[in-house]
Amino acid sequence: MATSNALVIAGAGLAGAKAAETLRAEGFDGPLVLLGDESERPYERPPLSKGYLMGRSEREKVYVHPARWYEDHDVDLRLGTAVTALDPAAHELTLADGSRQGYAKLLLATGATPRPLPVPGAELDGVLLLRRLGDSDLIKETFRTAQQIVVVGGGWIGLETTAAARAAGVAVTVVETAELPLLQVLGREVAQVFADLHTDHEVVFRYGAEVAEITGTLGHADGVRLTDGTQIPADAVIIGVGVAPNSGLAEDAGLEVDNGVRVDAQLRSSHPDVHAAGDVANAFHPFLGTHVRVEHWANALHQPQVASRAMLGQDVAYDRLPYFFTDQYDLGMEYTGYVAPGGYDRVVFRGDTRSREFIAFWLSGDRVLAGMNVNVWDVVEPIRALVTSGRTVDTARLADPGVPLADLVT
Ligand SMILES: Cc1cc2nc3c(=O)[nH]c(=O)nc-3n(C[C@H](O)[C@H](O)[C@H](O)COP(=O)(O)OP(=O)(O)OC[C@H]3O[C@@H](n4cnc5c(N)ncnc54)[C@H](O)[C@@H]3O)c2cc1C
Repeated sequence: MATSNALVIAGAGLAGAKAAETLRAEGFDGPLVLLGDESERPYERPPLSKGYLMGRSEREKVYVHPARWYEDHDVDLRLGTAVTALDPAAHELTLADGSRQGYAKLLLATGATPRPLPVPGAELDGVLLLRRLGDSDLIKETFRTAQQIVVVGGGWIGLETTAAARAAGVAVTVVETAELPLLQVLGREVAQVFADLHTDHEVVFRYGAEVAEITGTLGHADGVRLTDGTQIPADAVIIGVGVAPNSGLAEDAGLEVDNGVRVDAQLRSSHPDVHAAGDVANAFHPFLGTHVRVEHWANALHQPQVASRAMLGQDVAYDRLPYFFTDQYDLGMEYTGYVAPGGYDRVVFRGDTRSREFIAFWLSGDRVLAGMNVNVWDVVEPIRALVTSGRTVDTARLADPGVPLADLVT
Protein backbone atom coordinates (compact mmCIF):
# COMPACT_ATOMS: atom_id res chain seq x y z
CA MET A 1 0.00 0.00 0.00
CA ALA A 2 1.23 3.52 -0.81
CA THR A 3 2.17 5.61 2.18
CA SER A 4 -0.96 7.22 3.59
CA ASN A 5 -1.18 10.79 4.84
CA ALA A 6 -4.21 9.89 6.99
CA LEU A 7 -4.33 10.35 10.72
CA VAL A 8 -6.16 7.32 12.09
CA ILE A 9 -7.75 6.76 15.47
CA ALA A 10 -8.51 3.19 16.56
CA GLY A 11 -11.33 3.18 19.11
CA ALA A 12 -14.36 5.47 18.92
CA GLY A 13 -15.06 6.18 22.58
CA LEU A 14 -14.61 9.47 24.43
CA ALA A 15 -10.84 9.52 23.86
CA GLY A 16 -11.17 8.77 20.15
CA ALA A 17 -13.86 11.44 19.64
CA LYS A 18 -11.89 14.07 21.55
CA ALA A 19 -8.79 13.30 19.50
CA ALA A 20 -10.74 13.82 16.25
CA GLU A 21 -12.12 17.09 17.64
CA THR A 22 -8.67 18.36 18.62
CA LEU A 23 -7.02 17.40 15.33
CA ARG A 24 -9.59 19.44 13.40
CA ALA A 25 -9.47 22.31 15.92
CA GLU A 26 -5.69 22.41 15.52
CA GLY A 27 -6.11 22.87 11.79
CA PHE A 28 -5.33 19.40 10.46
CA ASP A 29 -7.25 19.28 7.16
CA GLY A 30 -6.06 15.96 5.74
CA PRO A 31 -7.87 12.62 5.87
CA LEU A 32 -9.00 11.74 9.38
CA VAL A 33 -10.37 8.27 10.11
CA LEU A 34 -12.08 7.18 13.35
CA LEU A 35 -12.59 3.40 13.62
CA GLY A 36 -14.88 1.92 16.25
CA ASP A 37 -16.15 -1.61 16.78
CA GLU A 38 -19.40 -0.52 18.48
CA SER A 39 -22.53 0.31 16.52
CA GLU A 40 -23.05 3.59 18.43
CA ARG A 41 -21.21 6.80 17.68
CA PRO A 42 -18.86 7.88 20.51
CA TYR A 43 -20.60 8.29 23.86
CA GLU A 44 -19.72 8.96 27.48
CA ARG A 45 -19.92 6.05 29.89
CA PRO A 46 -20.42 7.69 33.33
CA PRO A 47 -24.22 8.13 32.85
CA LEU A 48 -24.50 4.38 32.13
CA SER A 49 -24.22 3.59 35.85
CA LYS A 50 -25.96 6.77 37.05
CA GLY A 51 -28.60 9.04 35.47
CA TYR A 52 -29.13 7.01 32.29
CA LEU A 53 -29.36 3.72 34.22
CA MET A 54 -31.87 5.29 36.59
CA GLY A 55 -33.96 6.61 33.70
CA ARG A 56 -33.25 10.19 34.73
CA SER A 57 -31.32 11.30 31.65
CA GLU A 58 -32.08 10.72 27.99
CA ARG A 59 -30.08 8.56 25.62
CA GLU A 60 -29.29 11.51 23.33
CA LYS A 61 -27.41 13.19 26.21
CA VAL A 62 -24.71 10.49 26.39
CA TYR A 63 -23.20 11.15 22.97
CA VAL A 64 -19.97 13.13 22.71
CA HIS A 65 -21.06 14.94 19.54
CA PRO A 66 -24.30 15.40 17.61
CA ALA A 67 -24.67 12.80 14.82
CA ARG A 68 -23.89 15.35 12.10
CA TRP A 69 -20.69 16.56 13.72
CA TYR A 70 -18.53 13.87 12.08
CA GLU A 71 -19.75 14.66 8.58
CA ASP A 72 -19.57 18.40 9.20
CA HIS A 73 -15.93 18.06 10.25
CA ASP A 74 -15.04 15.60 7.50
CA VAL A 75 -14.24 12.84 10.00
CA ASP A 76 -14.54 9.42 8.37
CA LEU A 77 -16.29 7.69 11.28
CA ARG A 78 -16.57 3.98 10.61
CA LEU A 79 -18.68 2.17 13.19
CA GLY A 80 -18.98 -1.60 13.51
CA THR A 81 -15.37 -1.70 12.31
CA ALA A 82 -12.94 -3.61 14.48
CA VAL A 83 -9.23 -3.19 13.95
CA THR A 84 -7.73 -6.66 14.06
CA ALA A 85 -4.02 -6.06 13.47
CA LEU A 86 -1.41 -3.32 13.48
CA ASP A 87 1.80 -3.27 11.47
CA PRO A 88 3.83 -0.30 12.75
CA ALA A 89 6.66 -0.74 10.23
CA ALA A 90 4.24 -0.68 7.27
CA HIS A 91 2.06 2.02 8.93
CA GLU A 92 -0.96 -0.14 8.30
CA LEU A 93 -3.98 -1.53 10.10
CA THR A 94 -5.98 -4.60 9.18
CA LEU A 95 -9.73 -4.37 9.70
CA ALA A 96 -12.17 -7.19 10.53
CA ASP A 97 -13.35 -7.45 6.90
CA GLY A 98 -9.75 -8.06 5.80
CA SER A 99 -9.28 -4.61 4.29
CA ARG A 100 -6.26 -2.43 5.11
CA GLN A 101 -6.03 1.13 6.34
CA GLY A 102 -2.77 3.00 6.04
CA TYR A 103 -1.81 5.85 8.35
CA ALA A 104 0.84 8.49 8.81
CA LYS A 105 0.17 8.62 12.57
CA LEU A 106 -2.03 6.36 14.64
CA LEU A 107 -3.75 6.94 17.96
CA LEU A 108 -4.74 3.88 19.96
CA ALA A 109 -7.84 4.81 21.94
CA THR A 110 -9.23 1.33 22.39
CA GLY A 111 -10.16 1.70 26.06
CA ALA A 112 -10.74 -1.24 28.35
CA THR A 113 -12.99 -4.28 28.74
CA PRO A 114 -14.62 -5.53 31.96
CA ARG A 115 -12.94 -8.58 33.43
CA PRO A 116 -15.29 -11.57 33.52
CA LEU A 117 -15.65 -13.54 36.74
CA PRO A 118 -13.75 -16.80 36.18
CA VAL A 119 -16.24 -19.11 37.89
CA PRO A 120 -18.69 -21.78 36.74
CA GLY A 121 -22.01 -20.20 35.76
CA ALA A 122 -20.51 -16.94 34.52
CA GLU A 123 -22.04 -17.62 31.09
CA LEU A 124 -25.63 -17.88 32.39
CA ASP A 125 -28.31 -15.38 31.34
CA GLY A 126 -28.77 -12.77 34.01
CA VAL A 127 -25.03 -12.47 34.65
CA LEU A 128 -24.36 -8.91 33.59
CA LEU A 129 -21.32 -6.72 32.94
CA LEU A 130 -21.49 -2.94 32.48
CA ARG A 131 -19.43 -1.13 29.86
CA ARG A 132 -21.63 -0.37 26.86
CA LEU A 133 -24.92 1.42 26.30
CA GLY A 134 -26.61 -1.91 25.58
CA ASP A 135 -25.33 -3.28 28.92
CA SER A 136 -26.91 -0.35 30.73
CA ASP A 137 -30.20 -0.89 28.86
CA LEU A 138 -30.20 -4.56 29.87
CA ILE A 139 -29.49 -3.77 33.53
CA LYS A 140 -32.19 -1.09 33.55
CA GLU A 141 -34.63 -3.65 32.12
CA THR A 142 -33.52 -6.17 34.76
CA PHE A 143 -34.21 -3.67 37.56
CA ARG A 144 -37.82 -3.43 36.37
CA THR A 145 -38.59 -7.03 37.34
CA ALA A 146 -35.83 -8.14 39.74
CA GLN A 147 -36.46 -8.18 43.45
CA GLN A 148 -32.97 -9.03 44.61
CA ILE A 149 -29.59 -8.97 42.95
CA VAL A 150 -26.01 -9.77 43.85
CA VAL A 151 -23.29 -7.32 42.86
CA VAL A 152 -19.84 -8.91 42.74
CA GLY A 153 -17.16 -6.31 43.49
CA GLY A 154 -17.39 -3.23 45.70
CA GLY A 155 -15.55 -0.85 43.34
CA TRP A 156 -16.92 2.26 41.64
CA ILE A 157 -19.02 0.44 39.03
CA GLY A 158 -20.36 -2.04 41.58
CA LEU A 159 -21.33 0.67 44.06
CA GLU A 160 -22.88 3.02 41.50
CA THR A 161 -24.92 0.15 40.08
CA THR A 162 -25.93 -0.78 43.62
CA ALA A 163 -27.18 2.77 44.24
CA ALA A 164 -29.17 2.65 40.99
CA ALA A 165 -30.65 -0.71 41.96
CA ARG A 166 -31.72 0.64 45.36
CA ALA A 167 -33.32 3.63 43.64
CA ALA A 168 -35.33 1.09 41.60
CA GLY A 169 -36.38 -0.68 44.82
CA VAL A 170 -34.21 -3.78 44.22
CA ALA A 171 -32.55 -5.44 47.23
CA VAL A 172 -28.76 -5.74 46.84
CA THR A 173 -26.05 -7.91 48.35
CA VAL A 174 -22.51 -6.81 47.50
CA VAL A 175 -19.91 -9.57 47.59
CA GLU A 176 -16.44 -8.16 48.17
CA THR A 177 -13.16 -9.98 48.75
CA ALA A 178 -11.70 -7.16 50.88
CA GLU A 179 -12.89 -5.99 54.30
CA LEU A 180 -14.50 -2.83 52.89
CA PRO A 181 -15.59 -1.53 49.49
CA LEU A 182 -13.00 0.65 47.69
CA LEU A 183 -10.42 -0.28 50.32
CA GLN A 184 -7.57 -0.54 47.85
CA VAL A 185 -8.22 2.88 46.25
CA LEU A 186 -9.28 4.95 49.24
CA GLY A 187 -7.84 3.30 52.33
CA ARG A 188 -9.79 2.32 55.42
CA GLU A 189 -10.84 5.76 56.71
CA VAL A 190 -12.67 6.91 53.58
CA ALA A 191 -13.76 3.45 52.40
CA GLN A 192 -15.78 3.27 55.63
CA VAL A 193 -17.76 6.35 54.55
CA PHE A 194 -18.90 4.52 51.41
CA ALA A 195 -19.67 1.34 53.35
CA ASP A 196 -21.85 3.33 55.77
CA LEU A 197 -23.55 5.17 52.91
CA HIS A 198 -24.71 1.92 51.36
CA THR A 199 -25.54 0.24 54.65
CA ASP A 200 -27.79 3.23 55.41
CA HIS A 201 -29.60 2.34 52.18
CA GLU A 202 -30.10 -1.24 53.34
CA VAL A 203 -27.41 -2.75 51.17
CA VAL A 204 -25.99 -5.99 52.59
CA PHE A 205 -22.23 -6.44 52.33
CA ARG A 206 -20.48 -9.80 52.40
CA TYR A 207 -16.85 -8.93 53.13
CA GLY A 208 -13.89 -11.25 52.80
CA ALA A 209 -16.13 -13.27 50.52
CA GLU A 210 -15.45 -14.95 47.22
CA VAL A 211 -17.88 -16.33 44.68
CA ALA A 212 -17.26 -20.02 43.92
CA GLU A 213 -20.11 -20.43 41.45
CA ILE A 214 -23.04 -18.65 39.92
CA THR A 215 -25.95 -21.00 40.20
CA GLY A 216 -28.78 -21.20 37.69
CA THR A 217 -32.12 -22.66 36.73
CA LEU A 218 -32.98 -23.31 33.07
CA GLY A 219 -29.96 -21.35 31.87
CA HIS A 220 -30.68 -18.27 34.00
CA ALA A 221 -28.74 -17.18 37.08
CA ASP A 222 -30.62 -17.68 40.33
CA GLY A 223 -27.90 -16.83 42.84
CA VAL A 224 -24.31 -17.25 43.88
CA ARG A 225 -22.54 -19.78 46.05
CA LEU A 226 -19.61 -18.43 48.05
CA THR A 227 -16.45 -20.40 48.73
CA ASP A 228 -17.59 -20.86 52.37
CA GLY A 229 -20.71 -22.61 51.04
CA THR A 230 -23.15 -19.72 51.67
CA GLN A 231 -25.91 -19.48 49.04
CA ILE A 232 -27.26 -16.05 48.15
CA PRO A 233 -30.37 -16.05 45.97
CA ALA A 234 -30.54 -13.45 43.20
CA ASP A 235 -32.64 -12.66 40.14
CA ALA A 236 -29.49 -11.31 38.44
CA VAL A 237 -25.78 -11.07 39.18
CA ILE A 238 -23.84 -7.95 38.20
CA ILE A 239 -20.09 -8.32 37.88
CA GLY A 240 -17.92 -5.30 38.65
CA VAL A 241 -14.46 -6.69 39.22
CA GLY A 242 -12.43 -4.23 37.20
CA VAL A 243 -11.34 -3.80 33.60
CA ALA A 244 -8.39 -4.85 31.47
CA PRO A 245 -6.86 -2.45 28.93
CA ASN A 246 -7.50 -3.31 25.27
CA SER A 247 -3.80 -3.41 24.43
CA GLY A 248 -3.79 -6.64 22.37
CA LEU A 249 -3.24 -4.82 19.04
CA ALA A 250 -0.15 -3.08 20.42
CA GLU A 251 1.15 -6.20 22.09
CA ASP A 252 0.78 -8.34 18.96
CA ALA A 253 2.55 -5.59 17.00
CA GLY A 254 5.54 -5.78 19.32
CA LEU A 255 5.01 -2.37 20.93
CA GLU A 256 5.93 -1.98 24.58
CA VAL A 257 2.97 -3.05 26.68
CA ASP A 258 2.88 -3.14 30.45
CA ASN A 259 -0.50 -2.67 32.11
CA GLY A 260 -1.68 -0.98 28.90
CA VAL A 261 0.25 0.63 26.06
CA ARG A 262 3.34 2.16 27.61
CA VAL A 263 3.72 5.75 26.41
CA ASP A 264 5.92 8.69 27.30
CA ALA A 265 4.75 12.11 28.51
CA GLN A 266 3.95 13.03 24.87
CA LEU A 267 1.73 9.91 24.87
CA ARG A 268 3.96 8.35 22.22
CA SER A 269 4.44 4.58 22.30
CA SER A 270 7.65 2.68 21.67
CA HIS A 271 6.99 3.34 17.95
CA PRO A 272 7.20 7.09 17.20
CA ASP A 273 4.15 7.12 14.89
CA VAL A 274 1.83 5.34 17.30
CA HIS A 275 0.31 7.21 20.24
CA ALA A 276 -2.15 6.08 22.89
CA ALA A 277 -4.63 7.88 25.14
CA GLY A 278 -7.46 7.13 27.56
CA ASP A 279 -8.03 3.91 29.51
CA VAL A 280 -5.59 1.94 27.32
CA ALA A 281 -2.57 4.21 27.93
CA ASN A 282 -0.04 3.67 30.70
CA ALA A 283 1.56 7.09 30.48
CA PHE A 284 4.64 8.57 32.09
CA HIS A 285 3.43 11.42 34.29
CA PRO A 286 6.09 14.11 34.72
CA PHE A 287 4.74 15.42 38.03
CA LEU A 288 4.17 12.00 39.58
CA GLY A 289 7.47 10.74 38.17
CA THR A 290 6.01 7.37 37.27
CA HIS A 291 3.82 5.66 34.69
CA VAL A 292 0.11 5.68 35.53
CA ARG A 293 -2.85 4.19 33.72
CA VAL A 294 -5.96 6.11 34.66
CA GLU A 295 -9.38 4.56 34.04
CA HIS A 296 -11.38 7.75 34.40
CA TRP A 297 -13.48 10.10 32.33
CA ALA A 298 -11.35 13.24 32.76
CA ASN A 299 -8.28 11.40 31.54
CA ALA A 300 -10.12 10.23 28.40
CA LEU A 301 -11.28 13.82 27.92
CA HIS A 302 -7.92 15.58 28.28
CA GLN A 303 -5.20 13.12 27.23
CA PRO A 304 -6.32 12.97 23.57
CA GLN A 305 -5.88 16.74 23.30
CA VAL A 306 -2.19 16.31 24.11
CA ALA A 307 -1.78 13.13 22.05
CA SER A 308 -3.32 14.87 19.00
CA ARG A 309 -1.03 17.85 19.29
CA ALA A 310 1.95 15.54 19.62
CA MET A 311 0.77 13.69 16.48
CA LEU A 312 0.87 17.08 14.71
CA GLY A 313 4.46 17.56 15.81
CA GLN A 314 3.87 19.99 18.69
CA ASP A 315 6.10 19.86 21.74
CA VAL A 316 3.58 19.01 24.47
CA ALA A 317 3.38 16.82 27.55
CA TYR A 318 0.47 15.47 29.58
CA ASP A 319 0.90 16.47 33.20
CA ARG A 320 -2.66 17.01 34.45
CA LEU A 321 -3.34 15.48 37.83
CA PRO A 322 -5.73 12.53 37.77
CA TYR A 323 -9.31 13.53 38.62
CA PHE A 324 -12.50 11.52 38.93
CA PHE A 325 -15.98 11.77 40.33
CA THR A 326 -18.86 9.63 41.46
CA ASP A 327 -22.52 10.11 42.37
CA GLN A 328 -24.23 7.63 44.67
CA TYR A 329 -27.60 8.39 46.33
CA ASP A 330 -27.21 11.95 47.65
CA LEU A 331 -23.41 11.75 47.79
CA GLY A 332 -21.46 13.55 45.08
CA MET A 333 -17.69 13.40 45.17
CA GLU A 334 -14.64 14.57 43.25
CA TYR A 335 -11.12 13.20 43.78
CA THR A 336 -8.02 15.04 42.62
CA GLY A 337 -4.49 13.66 42.80
CA TYR A 338 -2.90 10.26 42.92
CA VAL A 339 -1.95 7.91 45.73
CA ALA A 340 -0.26 4.62 44.90
CA PRO A 341 -1.77 1.74 46.92
CA GLY A 342 -0.43 2.09 50.46
CA GLY A 343 1.49 5.22 49.40
CA TYR A 344 0.24 7.60 52.10
CA ASP A 345 0.86 8.07 55.83
CA ARG A 346 -2.46 9.46 57.03
CA VAL A 347 -5.75 11.07 56.08
CA VAL A 348 -6.75 14.51 57.35
CA PHE A 349 -10.44 15.39 57.32
CA ARG A 350 -11.89 18.88 56.96
CA GLY A 351 -15.60 18.78 57.82
CA ASP A 352 -17.91 16.09 59.07
CA THR A 353 -17.78 12.54 57.70
CA ARG A 354 -21.02 11.54 59.46
CA SER A 355 -23.06 14.16 57.63
CA ARG A 356 -21.05 13.28 54.48
CA GLU A 357 -19.94 16.85 53.85
CA PHE A 358 -16.17 16.99 54.05
CA ILE A 359 -12.85 17.05 52.26
CA ALA A 360 -10.39 14.21 52.87
CA PHE A 361 -6.69 14.78 52.21
CA TRP A 362 -4.18 11.98 51.78
CA LEU A 363 -0.75 13.00 53.07
CA SER A 364 2.78 11.73 52.82
CA GLY A 365 4.61 13.43 55.68
CA ASP A 366 3.12 16.95 55.57
CA ARG A 367 2.61 17.00 51.81
CA VAL A 368 -0.85 16.57 50.28
CA LEU A 369 -0.96 13.84 47.62
CA ALA A 370 -4.68 13.92 46.88
CA GLY A 371 -7.93 15.43 48.05
CA MET A 372 -11.51 14.22 47.86
CA ASN A 373 -14.37 16.67 48.25
CA VAL A 374 -17.63 15.04 49.27
CA ASN A 375 -20.77 17.19 48.90
CA VAL A 376 -18.48 20.24 49.04
CA TRP A 377 -18.13 22.06 45.74
CA ASP A 378 -15.88 24.45 43.80
CA VAL A 379 -12.70 23.31 45.56
CA VAL A 380 -11.05 21.20 42.86
CA GLU A 381 -8.76 24.01 41.69
CA PRO A 382 -7.41 24.85 45.18
CA ILE A 383 -6.93 21.12 45.86
CA ARG A 384 -5.06 20.76 42.57
CA ALA A 385 -2.90 23.77 43.47
CA LEU A 386 -2.20 22.32 46.92
CA VAL A 387 -1.08 18.99 45.48
CA THR A 388 0.99 20.39 42.62
CA SER A 389 2.68 22.99 44.86
CA GLY A 390 4.40 20.09 46.62
CA ARG A 391 4.52 22.30 49.73
CA THR A 392 4.28 21.04 53.27
CA VAL A 393 1.12 22.12 55.08
CA ASP A 394 0.12 22.85 58.65
CA THR A 395 -2.30 19.97 59.19
CA ALA A 396 -4.32 21.83 61.85
CA ARG A 397 -5.02 24.58 59.30
CA LEU A 398 -5.68 21.94 56.63
CA ALA A 399 -8.39 20.44 58.85
CA ASP A 400 -9.94 23.82 59.69
CA PRO A 401 -12.87 24.70 57.38
CA GLY A 402 -12.36 28.33 58.40
CA VAL A 403 -9.02 28.52 56.58
CA PRO A 404 -9.43 29.01 52.82
CA LEU A 405 -7.58 26.23 50.97
CA ALA A 406 -5.91 28.83 48.77
CA ASP A 407 -4.23 30.27 51.89
CA LEU A 408 -2.43 26.98 52.47
CA VAL A 409 -0.54 27.26 49.18
CA THR A 410 0.82 30.79 49.58
C1 LIG B 1 -20.52 2.39 33.56
C2 LIG B 1 -19.32 3.28 33.68
C3 LIG B 1 -19.37 4.37 34.53
C4 LIG B 1 -18.27 5.20 34.66
N1 LIG B 1 -18.34 6.26 35.53
C5 LIG B 1 -17.28 7.07 35.68
C6 LIG B 1 -17.34 8.15 36.59
O1 LIG B 1 -18.32 8.37 37.27
N2 LIG B 1 -16.25 8.96 36.70
C7 LIG B 1 -15.13 8.76 35.97
O2 LIG B 1 -14.18 9.52 36.12
N3 LIG B 1 -15.04 7.72 35.10
C8 LIG B 1 -16.08 6.87 34.94
N4 LIG B 1 -16.02 5.81 34.07
C9 LIG B 1 -14.78 5.58 33.31
C10 LIG B 1 -14.78 6.31 31.97
O3 LIG B 1 -16.01 6.14 31.32
C11 LIG B 1 -13.66 5.76 31.11
O4 LIG B 1 -12.45 6.14 31.72
C12 LIG B 1 -13.72 6.26 29.68
O5 LIG B 1 -14.85 5.74 29.03
C13 LIG B 1 -12.48 5.85 28.89
O6 LIG B 1 -12.61 6.29 27.58
P1 LIG B 1 -11.76 5.66 26.39
O7 LIG B 1 -12.22 6.39 25.16
O8 LIG B 1 -10.34 5.63 26.75
O9 LIG B 1 -12.21 4.13 26.31
P2 LIG B 1 -13.63 3.50 26.00
O10 LIG B 1 -14.70 4.37 26.53
O11 LIG B 1 -13.55 2.09 26.47
O12 LIG B 1 -13.70 3.52 24.41
C14 LIG B 1 -12.88 2.69 23.62
C15 LIG B 1 -13.65 2.28 22.37
O13 LIG B 1 -12.79 1.55 21.50
C16 LIG B 1 -13.46 0.41 21.04
N5 LIG B 1 -12.46 -0.59 20.62
C17 LIG B 1 -11.71 -1.39 21.40
N6 LIG B 1 -10.91 -2.19 20.65
C18 LIG B 1 -11.16 -1.88 19.36
C19 LIG B 1 -10.66 -2.35 18.12
N7 LIG B 1 -9.73 -3.31 18.05
N8 LIG B 1 -11.15 -1.81 16.98
C20 LIG B 1 -12.08 -0.83 17.03
N9 LIG B 1 -12.61 -0.35 18.18
C21 LIG B 1 -12.15 -0.86 19.33
C22 LIG B 1 -14.29 -0.01 22.23
O14 LIG B 1 -15.33 -0.89 21.89
C23 LIG B 1 -14.81 1.35 22.68
O15 LIG B 1 -15.93 1.73 21.94
C24 LIG B 1 -17.10 4.94 33.93
C25 LIG B 1 -17.05 3.81 33.08
C26 LIG B 1 -18.14 2.99 32.96
C27 LIG B 1 -18.08 1.78 32.07
